[in-house]
Amino acid sequence: MSDCLFCKIAAGDIPSSKVYEDGQCLAFHDIDPQAPTHFLVIPKTHIGSVAEVTEDNAAVAAHIFTVIAKVAKDLGLDSYRVVSNIGEQAGQSVPHLHFHVLAGRDMTWPPG
Ligand code: AMP
Ligand code: ZN
Repeated sequence: MSDCLFCKIAAGDIPSSKVYEDGQCLAFHDIDPQAPTHFLVIPKTHIGSVAEVTEDNAAVAAHIFTVIAKVAKDLGLDSYRVVSNIGEQAGQSVPHLHFHVLAGRDMTWPPG
């Protein structure tokens, strides 16, 4: 999607602080971290949010979870939170599927 921020980051047109990259997805540090460790994992193809995951594109979503597990292990994280906001009321500000990975501080439940 030409005017999508995360599509531009995935294409390398906007720089990011990369944590991990492969053919299907990219992980990079959040520009406004909410925890000592806070990175995002996105598919390189445009999917608007979890609400747009279907049988046809679910493979990349599944792949992203294997990447989250691998990167978290590589970073030595033994406790972390994975969050995906869907829609405005839930706090989604970038309409391209992304999973927040947060770690390094105590977390509260339920989230605000
Ligand atoms: P959400 O609000 O759940 O849609 O998450 C979007 C996240 O993207 C926010 O945590 C922002 O801080 C982050 N963000 C926005 N622009 C950038 C950028 N250029 N590089 C890295 N993270 C960004
Ligand atoms: Zn996009």
